[in-house]
Amino acid sequence: MKPTCLAISSLSLVLCATAALGQAPVSPIDSHIGAARTAAGLDYRATFVNLCLPSTPRGGGAGPAGRGAPVAPQTPDRATWYAPPFKVFDNLYWLGTRQHSSWALQSSAGIIIIDTNFAWATGPEIIEGLNTLGLNPRDIKYVIISHAHGDHDQGAAELQRRYGAQVVMGAPDWGATLTRPATAPGGVPKRDIAVGPEGRTLTLGDTSVEIVATPGHTPGTLSYVFPVKDRGRTLMAAYSGGTLTGAFGTDGARWDEYIASQRKIGKVAADAGASVILSNHSEYDGAYTKARLIAAPRQPGEDHPFIVGTEAVQRYFTVMAECATASKLRVGAQ
Ligand SMILES: [Zn+2]
Repeated sequence: MKPTCLAISSLSLVLCATAALGQAPVSPIDSHIGAARTAAGLDYRATFVNLCLPSTPRGGGAGPAGRGAPVAPQTPDRATWYAPPFKVFDNLYWLGTRQHSSWALQSSAGIIIIDTNFAWATGPEIIEGLNTLGLNPRDIKYVIISHAHGDHDQGAAELQRRYGAQVVMGAPDWGATLTRPATAPGGVPKRDIAVGPEGRTLTLGDTSVEIVATPGHTPGTLSYVFPVKDRGRTLMAAYSGGTLTGAFGTDGARWDEYIASQRKIGKVAADAGASVILSNHSEYDGAYTKARLIAAPRQPGEDHPFIVGTEAVQRYFTVMAECATASKLRVGAQ
């Protein structure tokens, strides 16, 4: 039977068309989830599942930065987390546990540490990791914290205290950090460099990191674009600073801020030609697995495992924006 379409709008035409084909109309939520699934492909399954199909609220989105964050005050069994350090690019080193990543960006004038980890990982992963790789922790000049949650910032105070490193953090996340008690795991860093919504470029020697304010996961979340070198070839890496949206609730402005942030860092990454995507959780960028592949001989035509291409970098941020849009609709945020 020919369907009757009374209302003339793009939405009603879609509904009429799908009804005529005997299909259930696709809801806007499903449409965004579908777009995210397509963008994720097989590359970003965990990002897609955690953001688009949350079964239970997960930490990381709750309240001001520093609260609602993953907390691990006691050192867990080393067998469950320890990973050796790896040189990933000519100038970038991975110092992560199997779950969380910390990175060392080597410049001509010292080291920039990008994210730390829980306090119990600072010694075995960052300090011993640098020594194992032939780098000197005393060369750490900056520690850039993507956001003030314990799984990424508890090492900042120790690196500041021991090596005089300057800690860089989004201005709102400094606010949350400085209200922590002195007994907080890892201690409390003293305020150094606060990055506002305009972002900034941090230069050390021959290396510049473009710091982009990407509020959402926390109010002061920072993401980055910086150069890496593969056997002398310079490429640009995009670093996603905060991922989960699990506790945004019906705060529509916060959803919108997060979505806008993904588009913002996506554009900065595109303008820079970023072909490497990095995160602070291995489940999102595969860092732990990929880092161990670096030493494997490359087959003819096979690229460095972290080089995914400019199109795939853009797909990562599409997954984040589309999943957040679907989730905002699902919870009825205005
Ligand atoms: Zn977090």
